[in-house]
Amino acid sequence: MDTRSVKGLSLGTCSSCGKRTPIYFRRYSGVKLCSTCFKEDFVKRVRRTISRYGLFRYDDRIVVAVSGGKDSLVLLKILYEIEQDFPKSELLAVLIDEGIDSYRLDGLRTSREIARILNIELHETSFKDLYGFTLGEVVKSGIAEKLKLNPCTICGILRRKALVTVARKLRATVIATAHTLDDIVQTYLLNLLRGEKNLRPIGLRREVENIIPRVAPLRLTPQRELALYAYLEGIPFQSRTCPYTHESMRDEIRNFLTLYDYKYTGSLYAFLNMFERILGKIPQPAEVNRCEICGEPTDRRICRACEIVLSIRSLLKN
Ligand SMILES: [Zn+2]
Ligand SMILES: [Zn+2]
Repeated sequence: MDTRSVKGLSLGTCSSCGKRTPIYFRRYSGVKLCSTCFKEDFVKRVRRTISRYGLFRYDDRIVVAVSGGKDSLVLLKILYEIEQDFPKSELLAVLIDEGIDSYRLDGLRTSREIARILNIELHETSFKDLYGFTLGEVVKSGIAEKLKLNPCTICGILRRKALVTVARKLRATVIATAHTLDDIVQTYLLNLLRGEKNLRPIGLRREVENIIPRVAPLRLTPQRELALYAYLEGIPFQSRTCPYTHESMRDEIRNFLTLYDYKYTGSLYAFLNMFERILGKIPQPAEVNRCEICGEPTDRRICRACEIVLSIRSLLKN
């Protein structure tokens, strides 16, 4: 675990309780926290994020997509804790198996175990059930290559669609994703660099008729604090990495931002706040265009997910 930040410092005592030995030094504020105070503060920040942006209602039916990775399991655990204060709300977990050989096995086991401990319903589904093919089949048959799409792109788009499909079946009123501060800033930058025309805020609640809003309660949580929290809470890190992981532009931006934020601490917050102030000034269309096949919002006639599913199915037939 990354405790480098406290090396070489006179440790002193925790800035919060003034008693215990700090294990974490928050560079941008100069605060040193012991393990107990760090965990408390971590949950408090998520609570503040939820209320600052109005992410949930008291009677929401919340779906969390768990992947078996630490980020989504941390989110599930924290929302479980927070939702205890809202007895009319419900929390459900969804696990989507893309069918990447044995990659998901550890994740499946961990997700089931944590859902069982927290007594949260875990709904499992797969690309095979929903689309009739697995991601493994799409890659091995050479279809991904034929479509000139890298597996991560296909997986991301189809996971998103799968999650919405299941959330609808479960009559969810909101979907919570585990995107952290780092993830969101990366995506904003990526969208800018790719010249994305329809820039929208990510992970904020936007009520549009018949669309399940997606919110990111960890949007103010830095990735490194999430990793430390997972470690302290004994939430396992996925030991296998996805064999198809390859998103070179995002990787480069991630590396750049990590270094930059280390050197100029607080940069990620500064970027997020400024960028969202600018986004807030861009008028969003009142009318939402919908996919002719699935009815989900899209800027095209047929959404990208439906288009990909149709192409894959027709190539699989031939
Ligand atoms: Zn303390
Ligand atoms: Zn569609």
